[in-house]
Amino acid sequence: MVSRVIPVDPFDLVIFGGTGDLARRKILPGLFRRFVAGQMPDDAQIIGAARGDMDDSEYRAMTEDAIREFGGRKVSDDAVARFLERVHFTTVDAMGDEGWAKLAEKLPPGRVRAFYFSVAPSLFGALAERLRHFGLADAASRIVVEKPFGHDLHSARALNRVLEEYFAEDEIYRIDHYLGKETVQNLMAVRFGNMLFEPLWNAQYVDHIQITVAETVGVGGRGSYYDKSGAMRDMVQNHIMQLLCLIAMEPPARFEPDAVRDEKLKVIRALDPVPAHHLVRGQYSGNGTHPSYCDDVEDPRSRTESFVALRAHVSNWRWAGTPFYIRTGKRLRARTSEIAVVFKDAPHSIFGADAGRHRNVLVIRLQPNEGMTLDVTIKEPGPGGMRLMDAPLDLTFADAMSPDADEVPDAYERLIMDVIRGNQTLFMRGDEVEAAWAWTDPLIDEWEARGDVPQPYDIGAAGPEDALMLMHRDGRKWREIRG
Ligand code: NAD
Repeated sequence: MVSRVIPVDPFDLVIFGGTGDLARRKILPGLFRRFVAGQMPDDAQIIGAARGDMDDSEYRAMTEDAIREFGGRKVSDDAVARFLERVHFTTVDAMGDEGWAKLAEKLPPGRVRAFYFSVAPSLFGALAERLRHFGLADAASRIVVEKPFGHDLHSARALNRVLEEYFAEDEIYRIDHYLGKETVQNLMAVRFGNMLFEPLWNAQYVDHIQITVAETVGVGGRGSYYDKSGAMRDMVQNHIMQLLCLIAMEPPARFEPDAVRDEKLKVIRALDPVPAHHLVRGQYSGNGTHPSYCDDVEDPRSRTESFVALRAHVSNWRWAGTPFYIRTGKRLRARTSEIAVVFKDAPHSIFGADAGRHRNVLVIRLQPNEGMTLDVTIKEPGPGGMRLMDAPLDLTFADAMSPDADEVPDAYERLIMDVIRGNQTLFMRGDEVEAAWAWTDPLIDEWEARGDVPQPYDIGAAGPEDALMLMHRDGRKWREIRG
C-alpha cells in the first residue's frame, strides 16, 4: 500500500544548528525523504544557520553527504540535485547580532516560517529573542524546540517563560520524536477507532501494563551529557511519560491538539508519587569487551543511573489498582521498545487445570519491527484433548501496510511536516512538560538526598536483580527483552 501524500503550503525552514549531528542524521535526511515523496512545494527553502563560515555550496555538499549516509535507500542523483537547489546557508551566532539581517532577507513574506532550534537549550532564549528583535518572526512563524526541555521543574519553567515572552504557546512545537512514530499514533487509532478494545481498557479487565525501552548501546560519546542526566531524565520524564499518557488517557472528544493534550495532562497529574521501594536504579558493569558505565563517563564515582525500573499508579476511576511497570536502560540484552497491555485471566476455565491458562496481551512494538500483536488463546492443534496455547494476531506495519519500509515516514519527517501544517497534536504543551517534571523531581531529589548508589548489572542482562523482584513481589513477571 503506497502512503498518501498531502502537499503542504509553501514554507521556509530555518535550522539553527544546521551543521550539527541532529540536523545531519535526522532533519536534513527527513526533509529529503519528504521531498522525494512529493510533499515539498517547489519553492520551499531549507536554510541551515549556524556559527562558522560556510557558503551555500559547502553546506549543500555537507547536506548531500548526510542524505547519502542517512537518507534511506532511495537516493537518486537527480533527486539529490533537485533537493539541494532548495538548500542554503547563513552564518548566524545565536548570542551575537551578526547575520540576522542577511537571514531576514532570505525569508519572503506571506509564507509559513519554521525555525528549528537544533542547538543546545541554553541558546533557546537568545534565539527566540533575536527572532523577534530582528523582525524575523511574523504571524505565520513557529519555533521547534528539541529535548532536553529543562533539567528539572525549575529549569523547564524558566525555559517556558522565556519562550513565552516571544512566542505564543500555539507557535511553540516541543518535539518528542516518540510521538511521531507510526505505532504510537496507531495506538490511538486502535484504541479509539475500534469497539473491541476500549470497553476493556480499564482496571476491571487490565491486570497491568509494562513499558520497556531497552538499548544495547552504552552512553558512548554522549557520556558527559548523559552523566548529568541519567535514565530518569533522559527517557522516563519525556518519552516514556508520553507513551504512558497515550495508553492511560481518556478518549478525547476530538483528535485535536488541545483535546488530546488536555487528556494527557490529566494522566500526568493523576500519577501517584512513587515510593522508594517501587523504584530501582542500576548502572552497567564492564566486561572483557565493553567498559563499565563509570569508565564510559570517566567518573569512577558516578552515581548516575543507566537503568531505571519503577511501578507507577494512575489514580483515577479507570486505572485505580492497575500497576504500570516501566523500565529503561542501556547495555541491556536487546534493543527493543514496547508497551504490553496484559489483560486479566478469564474468570473461569471450563477446560480444567491441565489445559493451561493464557492471558490476552496486546503488544505495541515501537522498535524494531514497528507493529502490534494481540496474543489470543487457542487450542493446541492435533489430537490429545483440549490443551490451550497462545497465538499472536500479528499486524507488523512494515509487512502489512507497506511493501516498502522506505515509504513509512520516519518520526522526524512526519513531525516536521506537522509543524509546517500547524498541527500541534503530536507535540508537548508547556504545562505537560512541567507536570512531568513535577512528578519526577521528588523521586530524583529523594534518591539524591539519600546518596543512593545505583545497583550494578551485567552487560547483556535485563537490568539489576531488584528490577526483576519489583514484579516478582507482585506475582508478575517482565516480558523477555527480545530484539
Ligand atoms: P551538535 O553539537 O552536533 O550541533 C550543535 C549545532 O549548534 C552546530 O550546528 C553548531 O554550529 C550550532 N551552534 C552552536 N553554538 C551556536 C551559536 N552560538 N549560534 C548558532 N549556532 C550555534 O548538537 P546536536 O547533537 O545536533 O544537538 C542539537 C540539539 O538537539 C541539542 O539540544 C540536543 O540536545 C538535541 N538533540 C539531539 C539529538 C541527536 O541525536 N543529536 C537527539 C535529540 C535531541
